[in-house]
Amino acid sequence: MNFSKEILFSELMELKNNAYVPYSNFRVASIVYLKNGEKVVGVNVENAAYNPTICAERCVLPQVYAQGYDANDVELMTLYTDSDNVGTPCGTCRQTMTELLQPEQIVMIFNKKGYCKSVTVSELLPDSFTEKDL
Ligand SMILES: [Zn+2]
Repeated sequence: MNFSKEILFSELMELKNNAYVPYSNFRVASIVYLKNGEKVVGVNVENAAYNPTICAERCVLPQVYAQGYDANDVELMTLYTDSDNVGTPCGTCRQTMTELLQPEQIVMIFNKKGYCKSVTVSELLPDSFTEKDL
């Protein structure tokens, strides 16, 4: 599949409006594009009790599996954060991404200005804990 950065960014900019962020007002959005042309979306969803807050990455990836897909079905994962920097996933999300995506999976991360960098899951969490360590 051929993805235009401008289109990917505009889809994330639209999706970020669905983030539920009454406390931080820090919006994060993620879209997983599947090889079959479908896409699955996620946003961060905050909670007054803080601990139940979920990041966009951990909102979207379980939905991929709930819909019957797995890591082999994923073509591309994109991520947007309301940052001047390119905000990378938190540690918990990196572990979840390691579990639910291929190590070589490309993740394109956009900041609020549309700047984008691409990283792989294994670059985000080298020497990760996996099933091989159990
Ligand atoms: Zn996270």
